[in-house]
Amino acid sequence: MPSYVADGEPDVSWVIDHSDNAIVVCDEAARVTWINQGFTRMFGYTPEDALGRRPSDFLAGPHTDPETVEWVRGQLHTQQGYRTELLVYAKNGVPLWISAVVNPVFDPERNVRYLLGVYTDITHSKLHEEMHRKVLSAIVREQPLQEVLTLICREVEKVMPEAVASVIGVDDYGRLRPLASPSLPDQIATLIDGELAGPMVGACGSAAWSGQPVECRDIERDPRWQSHNAPFLALGIRACWSSPVKGNDGRVLGTFALYYWENRAPDEFHLRVADVCLHLCALAMERERERARMHQLSFFDTLTGLPNRALFNSKVEQMLLGAARRDSQVALLFVDIDRFKIVNDTQGHTAGDALLRELAKRLGSELRDGDVVARLAGDEFVLAIPDRTAEEAANLADRLMARLSEPLSAGRMILTPQASVGVAMFPTDGWDVDSLVRHADIAMYRAKSEGGGRIVFYSLEMNQAMQERLALENALREAVRSGQLRLHYQPQVALDDDASLHGVEALLRWRHPEIGEISPATFVPMAEECGLIDELGRWTLEEACTQMADWRRRGVPVPRVSVNLSAINFEQQDLPTFIGNVLGKCGLSPDELMVEVTESVMLAQKPEVLANIDAIHRMGVSLSIDDFGTGYSSLSHLHRLPISELKLDMSFVRDLEHSESARALTTSILRIGESLSLKVVAEGVENAAQRAVLASLNCDLLQGYYVSRPLSPHSLERWVSLQPPTE
Ligand code: C2E
Ligand code: CA
Ligand code: CA
Repeated sequence: MPSYVADGEPDVSWVIDHSDNAIVVCDEAARVTWINQGFTRMFGYTPEDALGRRPSDFLAGPHTDPETVEWVRGQLHTQQGYRTELLVYAKNGVPLWISAVVNPVFDPERNVRYLLGVYTDITHSKLHEEMHRKVLSAIVREQPLQEVLTLICREVEKVMPEAVASVIGVDDYGRLRPLASPSLPDQIATLIDGELAGPMVGACGSAAWSGQPVECRDIERDPRWQSHNAPFLALGIRACWSSPVKGNDGRVLGTFALYYWENRAPDEFHLRVADVCLHLCALAMERERERARMHQLSFFDTLTGLPNRALFNSKVEQMLLGAARRDSQVALLFVDIDRFKIVNDTQGHTAGDALLRELAKRLGSELRDGDVVARLAGDEFVLAIPDRTAEEAANLADRLMARLSEPLSAGRMILTPQASVGVAMFPTDGWDVDSLVRHADIAMYRAKSEGGGRIVFYSLEMNQAMQERLALENALREAVRSGQLRLHYQPQVALDDDASLHGVEALLRWRHPEIGEISPATFVPMAEECGLIDELGRWTLEEACTQMADWRRRGVPVPRVSVNLSAINFEQQDLPTFIGNVLGKCGLSPDELMVEVTESVMLAQKPEVLANIDAIHRMGVSLSIDDFGTGYSSLSHLHRLPISELKLDMSFVRDLEHSESARALTTSILRIGESLSLKVVAEGVENAAQRAVLASLNCDLLQGYYVSRPLSPHSLERWVSLQPPTE
């Protein structure tokens, strides 16, 4: 009869010896009376080692939870079974997570006779679970990367006393950046920091470089360690095993390494632990990368890479605190590029963007450590320069202007950029970032209105002027809405003996209840800046057409009306529809309306502007180029545009009598008109002498005080009625 069968039954203890579980029988005082061989395999204790001792005494170790042990002992008196999970230690010191199920066995008198314990090794799943729980909660709590990785190392070392763990990051330039190695002295991290990853740079350097795990059983002799092993050997480290930590995209983010005190390779357990760690390290490092990217996005301007307003504000706040403590000054420079919009409109956004990037680079090149430069919006830059007097700030601003205005090409143009700079000083002009920026902005605005290309320091008086301007803007808003605006009409007549009426130009008039008449040369640009120009343009078009319709009905012989529109009006997609509707409503034909625009509108590259120009022309409404001769139009451009009239700028007319060059320019403009079959209107003709020169040069049409001032509708009717009848 085989030994594993007793009395026809299997030999139970022989069978139980084959279980993977550790099974233990204790007496009522919890002392071991029997263990199976599974117990010896799991913990290394033989029956001789274990008999007569309490398992909780010899299995507990440094990281065993004392409360759970206490609880287990308390269970003895309850006479009930229990189940628990516990970190214990094998005889050789290796930690193990076990799940213990313990049941009392009663004698016939219902006294506890034995305790039967079944222990299962759950190290792997438990380690997984424990590490995940701790590390993920640290990540969720937004703990710094270094802390999270240190936690991982410590957890590993808890279950693996024979090893030391370390995590190293790899930066964008392939350099090693130690992140966590809580059990190694700091000098080691200092030594490694900044090393370029490579095949001969220890286990971590070569794992980071190759993207493969690297095993070095003997760092003293391993060729990859030759120039690195001394400090490690000095600590007693003999071997190292390093694996690359990879991100979702497969990129090596860093390395996770185990160092050993003896020449050896990782065992099965180490492989499993490392697997969990690599996953967690990748998670933490990816998250950090994402956080850095978000930081970059939320604090930096994507076009130029400069700090944005948020970052500028927080940096300058710090700067001001420091300056207040040191009793020193800070200069705040507000830089705005002159005529940037023209580049953007005529050369396209790509060229505009390239220009901004180049200018940002130039601004940065003149700065010292500690200076801050940011792009606020569009073509607006701000700089904060600590520890400078107003005079030094002026010198710096001079240098910046010189640097900015070096020629460069944008699209098809060679530009010499020019900037307007406003300066506000801390603490004289403001105590906080907001007021300093606002005041520097006001000063910049003044620089701009004085013609640009200059530096202006903020003053209190400027602030008042700005307040007044704001008040005026509000008044204009009110005026547009409450009908304080009117149109006057200035006749344009043929420059022949008949002097027949060609048309009238509608010109805006605004009488402010307190200030009196305000010139459109003042309030039209204001309306453009404060967003009122769209409304204003529509109002003018509708009013002029309504007036024309009225004259038409009453037989007043005004052949057409010219209306001035701004560049911004041409950016409104529905402009042609609007014009069409107004004409329809007033019962006018398209040739009774003419639209005056400046050259820059015509040169615009914006598709919506070009589409509008085209659509208006196709409707039959004529286009006229205002202030011709002052802009950049080239002949080659002109002949492609659907225009029918040029308005010779007043400045030429004014100088006609005395200036040879004004006469020459006028002549050439008239010849351009002739060759393109465009009518030319001379504006601002004030006297007979000017008229005579223009007549000798064959100019078609006259407009100016010599003919008539702009007139109210009523006065214009009178003027018309006093003209000798033509025919
Ligand atoms: P502009 O379109 O060049 O208008 C001609 C300006 O010259 C008018 O000034 C007119 O009153 C003035 N003027 C006419 N004849 C003479 C003259 O013989 N001598 C002198 N020295 N000046 C003369 P105003 O009405 O003050 O308008 C100034 C500017 O305001 C206009 O220049 C135009 O750019 C703008 N503007 C006027 N009305 C409107 C409008 O309805 N919409 C838009 N967008 N702009 C307008
Ligand atoms: Ca005009
Ligand atoms: Ca004009």
